[in-house]
Amino acid sequence: MDDIGAPHLAPWQRTAAGAGLLAPDGTVAPTVFAEMSALALASGAINLGQGFPDEDGPPEVLEAAREAIAAGVNQYPPGPGMPLLRDAIARHQQRWYDLEVDPDREVLVTAGATEALAATILAFVDTGDEVVTFEPSYDAYAALVARAGGIHRTVPLRFPDWRPDHDELRAAVSDRTRVILVNSPHNPTGAVLDRATLELVVELAHRHDALIVTDEVYEHLVFDGVHTPIATLPGAWERTVSISSGGKTFNTTGWKIGWVTAPADLVTAVLAVKQYLTFVNGAPFQPAIATGLDLPDRFFADAAASLTAKRDVLVAGLHAAGFTTSVPRSGYFAVADAAALGETDAAAFCRELPHRAGLVGVPVTAFVHPDRRDAVRSLVRFAFCKRREVLEEAAARLASLSGRSGAAAP
Ligand code: PMP
Ligand code: GLN
Repeated sequence: MDDIGAPHLAPWQRTAAGAGLLAPDGTVAPTVFAEMSALALASGAINLGQGFPDEDGPPEVLEAAREAIAAGVNQYPPGPGMPLLRDAIARHQQRWYDLEVDPDREVLVTAGATEALAATILAFVDTGDEVVTFEPSYDAYAALVARAGGIHRTVPLRFPDWRPDHDELRAAVSDRTRVILVNSPHNPTGAVLDRATLELVVELAHRHDALIVTDEVYEHLVFDGVHTPIATLPGAWERTVSISSGGKTFNTTGWKIGWVTAPADLVTAVLAVKQYLTFVNGAPFQPAIATGLDLPDRFFADAAASLTAKRDVLVAGLHAAGFTTSVPRSGYFAVADAAALGETDAAAFCRELPHRAGLVGVPVTAFVHPDRRDAVRSLVRFAFCKRREVLEEAAARLASLSGRSGAAAP
């Protein structure tokens, strides 16, 4: 039986290989983010690939973690998360979204949004169930759906405005759909789904009795307009699992403190899986993220404003260098079309970029199923969650590509 096209693999390799997680030669390919960060390190290039900030977050949050370690908060926390963090998450949902969640029954702390996504998908997706996402989409979605035995259906978001076509969304959802997985604010495009699209997701979820899973890790990083959690829409809460994380909001991507908010029966199903994935995580970081969630409104406004200014530096640099660029409305990333520079293969371009210009970006093909990559072939994602001077240097290096400024490649 060689249904996965790799007869030489040992039996114990075939499960992961069948889900596309192992390469045909039995090796595990690093994620595009890990690959590009390694390339940046090896070449000394500026890393605008993997999305992590190059500055520490709020000092109160860092200090709270140090204090927790010093106070001996170093053993297993409770399975659903420490009460003080669950309370802070509930207060956060109330303060920002007027959502009342019960911190004891409707909140679950996870090892980052990634574990929340994994536990949710493993809890609800059976072999043959369909999961609908927009595409491009965060790389973990396709991998997790595949390993759960699900079928990944996608609705394209098209450069440069990234607006989904509602008829395509309607066509993708059917009675076979178990989950509609929404990510807004969106990685990699920086799109923020409009209310009409969110309403259509809710309508389709009702019509086809599907769950909504929403990944909102960039919830506080919206540059114009506001973030509307889909769970706040009429009829949404009772079938929605909302996922977020402290990583982006507090510049603590390495701490991996995430959370789920949902009706109690959905949280219980996710907890049932989560407790055998990691059991618990990040004891001293839990009170620290609770401190962060209780910071005054000013902190959150400043975080979005600072990132807006960084976006503007990078987008201006990309334009000046001759790229066609979409202007992200949220998040960490800008997508640029290298075709305008005569580069039609972004993956090859990204491999050469460290050597040609001392820069690292990520090809958008990494966020798209291999069969559908033509539409994004020449697109590159660049992260702007970096210090202003780093972005200015990156802009100068980009300009050197087309010889549009005096800046020279290093
Ligand atoms: N979802 C999206 C859309 C992301 O961009 C990321 C990574 N930054 C995650 C989930 C993972 O979040 P975490 O680091 O909290 O696991
Ligand atoms: N979310 C980050 C990005 O999109 C990276 C996370 C990871 O490396 N898995 O760049």
